[in-house]
Amino acid sequence: MLQDKDRIFTNLYGWQGADLKSAQARGDWSGTKDLLAKGHDWMIEEVKTSELRGRGGAGFPTGMKWSFMPKESKDGRPNYLVINADESEPGTCKDRDIIRHEPHKIVEGALLASYAMRAHACYIYIRGEFYMEAIAMQKAIDEAYDAGLIGKNACGSGWDFDLYLHRGAGAYICGEETALLNSLEGKKGMPRNKPPFPAGAGLYACPTTVNNIETIAVVPEILRRGGSWFGSIGPEKNRGTKVFCISGHVNNPCNVEEALGVPLKDLIEKHAGGVRGGWDNVLAVIPGGSSTRMLPRDVCDTITMDFDALRAAWSGLGTAGVIVMDKSTDVVYAIARLARFYWHESCGQCTPCREGTGWMYRIMQRMVKGEANIEEIDMLLDIGSEIEGHTICAHGDASAWPIQGLIKHFRPEMEKRILDYRKHLVA
Ligand code: SF4
Repeated sequence: MLQDKDRIFTNLYGWQGADLKSAQARGDWSGTKDLLAKGHDWMIEEVKTSELRGRGGAGFPTGMKWSFMPKESKDGRPNYLVINADESEPGTCKDRDIIRHEPHKIVEGALLASYAMRAHACYIYIRGEFYMEAIAMQKAIDEAYDAGLIGKNACGSGWDFDLYLHRGAGAYICGEETALLNSLEGKKGMPRNKPPFPAGAGLYACPTTVNNIETIAVVPEILRRGGSWFGSIGPEKNRGTKVFCISGHVNNPCNVEEALGVPLKDLIEKHAGGVRGGWDNVLAVIPGGSSTRMLPRDVCDTITMDFDALRAAWSGLGTAGVIVMDKSTDVVYAIARLARFYWHESCGQCTPCREGTGWMYRIMQRMVKGEANIEEIDMLLDIGSEIEGHTICAHGDASAWPIQGLIKHFRPEMEKRILDYRKHLVA
């Protein structure tokens, strides 16, 4: 369990103010000028030492990602940092609370990360529906400008830094980094083919790094306490703390910061008040936002919450949005509902995703009642495998995974529905 002394988000629940003075009292903006004086490369090395992996879902090593950015511009193109605050994955609501209650961690992190990557400008792309959060974020940005912490000669460091907040219009796919960049440029929010990757040609065709907002918010504390401190928390290659979102059939749905590698059972029982009806009432858990494959009860007993353990269990940490389903859940219906979501949110550029998500959804609708053929269970797997890896972005994969998890763990339930439906027809 994470000790309080290692907690980064000390105001995650908003029990104190989000304003600059309150944030400074909690330690934000402390020694920022000294951190900047240590230089761009020192920062990147510290973040590499911390072994921080991106908190948006993919889990790519942050320090390595930063090191892909050019150290000097040979053609006059500037570097940009873009912060992804388009949190839209069902079951995930961590960034929202960070923005509401700890916005100065984001502003300070934006300055430090931008400086590390030699970017004088940073854009925060915030989900359109996050209206109150956008107000809170803009207030923190304005306070930081007024106090001279950002803007010309940020913190008295000699580095000029501008931070802009951009509101999206509410499309899930804009959480994909290249769709986000298109949207930020005023184009349709559709993912781009890669390569080129954003570090080569991102925003306005300039070198760009896109980081999740939680990733950026933990940077100041990593630099203040040292990369080795963060790297001492959690299992090997899965270091540091993480904000988990726990929802569904638990007694106390919540967000909580914990060490990576925390057992799923502890996370649910110690922080979320346990499962409705007790642990024995668990049917399955989706561990990392709706796109990750569900875990059946026996795996939930022992699994730890980190990137590698969950990958080994044929699932993923994703956004760490834990969705608990107890035995009252119609698990086929639950996944059919997610299939509808992924169909609805497909941008339509790639045929496998555009056609396949709708096809899977229509079959899943019939599966709910059992009004399907047994062979269509394998057909769902076939369609998923034709989508997976054959599209421009990971949305296609994300649409296939929840259904794969359902079939792996609940195939007998799906077959039983089909057979019962047939019996009912004969009767
Ligand atoms: Fe659009 Fe789907 Fe292709 Fe992604 S995979 S680019 S969402 S059609």
